[in-house]
Amino acid sequence: MAEAITTAAPAPRARVQAMKEYHPPLGSRDALRLDFNENTLACSPKVRETLAQISAGSLTRYPEREPVEAIVAAKLGLNAEQVALTNGVDEAIHVLFETFLDAGDELLLPVPTYTMYEVYASATDARAVTVQADDDLQFPFERLLEAITPRTKMIAIANPNSPSGSVAAREQILELARRAPGAVLLVDEAYFHFFGETVMDCIGSVPNLVVARTFSKAYGLAGLRLGLLAGQAETMRWVRRVLSPYSVNSLALACLPPAMEDTAYLDWYVGEVVAARSKFEAALDAAGVRRWPSRANFVLVEIGARHAEFVQLMRAAGVLVRDRSSDPGCDGRVRITIGTREQMTGAIVALNQTMAALRGGGKEQ
Ligand code: PMP
Repeated sequence: MAEAITTAAPAPRARVQAMKEYHPPLGSRDALRLDFNENTLACSPKVRETLAQISAGSLTRYPEREPVEAIVAAKLGLNAEQVALTNGVDEAIHVLFETFLDAGDELLLPVPTYTMYEVYASATDARAVTVQADDDLQFPFERLLEAITPRTKMIAIANPNSPSGSVAAREQILELARRAPGAVLLVDEAYFHFFGETVMDCIGSVPNLVVARTFSKAYGLAGLRLGLLAGQAETMRWVRRVLSPYSVNSLALACLPPAMEDTAYLDWYVGEVVAARSKFEAALDAAGVRRWPSRANFVLVEIGARHAEFVQLMRAAGVLVRDRSSDPGCDGRVRITIGTREQMTGAIVALNQTMAALRGGGKEQ
C-alpha cells in the first residue's frame, strides 16, 4: 500500500474555493410549510395514478427526454428545439450560466432576488453586477437600463420576483432585451401561475430572450425536480451541449404530461392561493404588520429587529416561515408562503399569537 504523503485533499479551482456554502434550511419541516414557496398540499391525483402504474422494468431504462420535450413544446406553442427540460429550474440556471458566462462578462441582477443566481454565477469567471431595489422593492427598471454595459452577457430577472413578490412589466422586459442585444435575458417565471402574465409568447421573435418555468411551485412537484428552459433554437443548441442528456429522471418525465393536462387541478390550487393571499394580506394589515404587494404565492413582511424570534415563535405554533434578513436590503424581513384558504386560516391564528407575544402583551391587542 502506498504511504500517505499528506493528509490534505486535492484543492478545487480557485473559483470554487471562493464560493460561499449554501445550505437551505430543509431539516425538521414536519409542520405547515410556509417557508419554501412550494405547493403546500399535493400534486394532481393524475400524477399519483401515473406513478402507481410505473413498472419495475421501466425503471431499468435510461430516461428519454426528447418525446416529452416535444409534448411540452406543443402545449406552449413552441417547437421542440426551442425547449429543454431540466432537473428543476436550478439546473437550468446553472447550465445557462455555464454555457454563456465567460471571464470578463457581467451578469446583471436586480436585488434582492433568488439566491441561486449569485451562487451559480460565482462558479463562473464572470462578475455579478447587482442593482439594488428601493425600499418599495419594485423592479428597478431605470437603474438596470443604466447598468447595461458592452460586457453585460446575462440579465436574470425572476418574474414575479422572490422574496419581494413584485413584478416587471412586459414592456420593461422587452425594452431590456432591446437595450442589451449581446446579452441573454433570462426571465425566470417560476411563480407565473400566481401572476398570470408571461413573455413565453415572445420566444422566437425576441432573439436574446430565454424563459424558465418550474414544476416545483403550482404543480406541486418540487420533489421530482422538473424545470424547463425555452429560447430560440440556436441558443438552446448551445445549452444542450452543456446539459446532461440524463438529468431529468424517468419518473419526472412520465409525470409531466398528466400534470400539464390536469388544468382543473392547477386552476383550483392557484385559485385557492390567490384567495388565501388576499385574506392573509388583510390579516397582516389588521395586525399592523408592514407587507409588500405580491403577485406570487408568498408575501414578504417587515418584522424588524426580532425577526429570528418571530420565526421561532411561528415554528413553535406549527408554522414554518423563512427569514430573509440576509438578503440585500431585507434586514428584519420574513417571507411567508401562501397555502390554501384553510391552511392560511391556521396561519393567521399563529401570526396573531406571535405578534401579540412579540409586542409583549401575551394576548392579542
Ligand atoms: N427560480 C425562483 C425564482 C425560485 O424561487 C426557485 C425556487 N425557490 C427556483 C427558481 C428553483 O426552482 P426549482 O425547484 O425548479 O429548481
